[in-house]
Amino acid sequence: MARVISVANQKGGVGKTTTTVNLGASLAAYEKKVLIIDCDPQANTTSSLGFPKDPARRTLYQALILGETFERIVIDGQIDGLDLVPSDKNLVGAAVELVSIDNREYRLTGELRSVRDKYDFILIDCPPSLDLLTLNALAASDSVMVPIQCEYLAIEGVSELLDTLMRLRRTINPELAIEGILLTMYDDRTTLSKQVAADLRSFFGAQVFETVIPRNVRLAEAPSHGMPVIFYDIHSKGAEAYMHLAKEVVSNVQKRVGPGAERPDWGTGAAATAASAAAGASGSGSGGSAGPGSV
Ligand code: ATP
Ligand code: MG
Repeated sequence: MARVISVANQKGGVGKTTTTVNLGASLAAYEKKVLIIDCDPQANTTSSLGFPKDPARRTLYQALILGETFERIVIDGQIDGLDLVPSDKNLVGAAVELVSIDNREYRLTGELRSVRDKYDFILIDCPPSLDLLTLNALAASDSVMVPIQCEYLAIEGVSELLDTLMRLRRTINPELAIEGILLTMYDDRTTLSKQVAADLRSFFGAQVFETVIPRNVRLAEAPSHGMPVIFYDIHSKGAEAYMHLAKEVVSNVQKRVGPGAERPDWGTGAAATAASAAAGASGSGSGGSAGPGSV
């Protein structure tokens, strides 16, 4: 049964798409079966995987709004072990049309039922907003991965985001966990990058992935060639980092096999304090009693 991970952050341009595409390809390189779902009308994931605009191609829109099954929409990602549910700009309409549809937050959850058994990982690239598309993604996910740039006010941004995720946990998906916070576009030549990374680690502890994604021009170039970085330049720092991240994600899944074994320091320290403050001591079952890895 696949682990379903949304890659989400309301903030734009933080590396969500780059992470979805390159983590997906790296997991496939480790012989995992991967489905990537492009849940963003910008369709950057679709084009980064080498699928230019094509009005004839079925997309996530048909599944969410017209109820077509995923079997008819999933395409071969042209990489061994990697499939894709593409997007295009029509998906903008879905965010609006969903408003009047029954069960509007759970359309994607329903679609995933038929394909979950076929994959080890399902990665969902979310748009930079908290619209109904993102809500569908988060409702359907086991966990959320949050890419963030090491920049001024990063801690405030992540705290607010975790606060929002905690609210969603109470409303749309009580099982939603934090897969991890991923530091992206890290530049080790700047003091600011280093300082922010250190602060984030001391504040959010083990919720932050050990892997740090460096700022790397190969990562920025690869999408224009329609391929993940491991196929564009396997020796680049970017390729190395995403392969490392894939390893970390796989090893976290293995740790989770034993209940309570994941992210052992969740529930202690500053992150838990921030989390329970955000929960407002609502007694909703989150915070201290939420268990490891939960939002
Ligand atoms: P949006 O919110 O618009 O969907 P996003 O969060 O998906 O954006 P990306 O599209 O992945 O962000 O990245 C934004 C830009 O930064 C892209 O041009 C991408 O190629 C570039 N980029 C992402 N990660 C890196 C990196 N580690 N090094 C260099 N460039 C990067
Ligand atoms: Mg994107």
